[in-house]
Amino acid sequence: MQEYLLNYQPAPMCLDGKVILVTGAGSGIGQAAARTYAQNGAEVILVGRTTEKLEQTYDEMLAGGCREPIMYTFDLASTDETAYRQLADAVSEQYHRLDGLLHNASLLGERKPIENYSAQVWQDVMQVNVNSAFLLSKALLPTLKLAKNASLLFTSSGVGRRGKAYWGAYAASKFATEGLMQVLASELENTSNIRVNSINPGATCTAMRQAAYPAENPDDNPHPEEIMLPYLYLMDDASCAVNGMALNAQ
Ligand code: NDP
Repeated sequence: MQEYLLNYQPAPMCLDGKVILVTGAGSGIGQAAARTYAQNGAEVILVGRTTEKLEQTYDEMLAGGCREPIMYTFDLASTDETAYRQLADAVSEQYHRLDGLLHNASLLGERKPIENYSAQVWQDVMQVNVNSAFLLSKALLPTLKLAKNASLLFTSSGVGRRGKAYWGAYAASKFATEGLMQVLASELENTSNIRVNSINPGATCTAMRQAAYPAENPDDNPHPEEIMLPYLYLMDDASCAVNGMALNAQ
């Protein structure tokens, strides 16, 4: 277990009353995080680009006895700032505050040398993985500021901390994610009740991992539900004092 979690024992329903938005909530780690937050009492806003996948998450959450989430189909490939403001306005109108924002959605892009990397794929990956996180954070900051203790959580990767051959835009986007996290953490530290951190889930059995490592046995890696304790901790008030940290889930 990670050192920062050694003394962490979540209280039952530790997220009761919190409102948390999760991007990429239709599959993989985002789906597990949405479920975990709802199981611990949060009202969860599911954001993703594929309505059917969000509906599946929604159905599974209701069948599992979770509080009813809301769904918002949104394509993070959008560069239209107004669309992000509309999403933020919808959250603000319904809930009047936001306690947690998990930037989880990402694109893998190509596993190729930079020399052969598609310029279009590079732009797409940077848009979904970094630019949209900037636009969504910017739009939601006023609503996050209305929460007593808000948590803004970015999703990183091992290759966002140490670059590796053939990880192209994905690695560069995760370095940029860490940079955005650090800038925001420093800006908000003494001016708000918002803490800002990043989490690297580590190798986890999802569609993205399978696409990146097709020859690997998927079951060699933990499933998303098995890495949820740090995701819970970082939304729980127990982590209130944690700011500007690049954490590992495994
Ligand atoms: P998945 O591919 O299972 O999930 C990615 C999610 O992002 C999907 O729900 C996908 O929606 C969504 N998404 C992609 N593009 C867009 C878009 N344009 N607009 C809205 N949503 C979009 O991957 P993981 O669960 O593995 O990844 C979750 C996070 O963890 C990512 O940030 C990833 O980089 C990170 N990570 C994962 C690791 C792993 O081993 N799995 C290791 C290190 C980091 P849709 O399905 O509809 O396309």
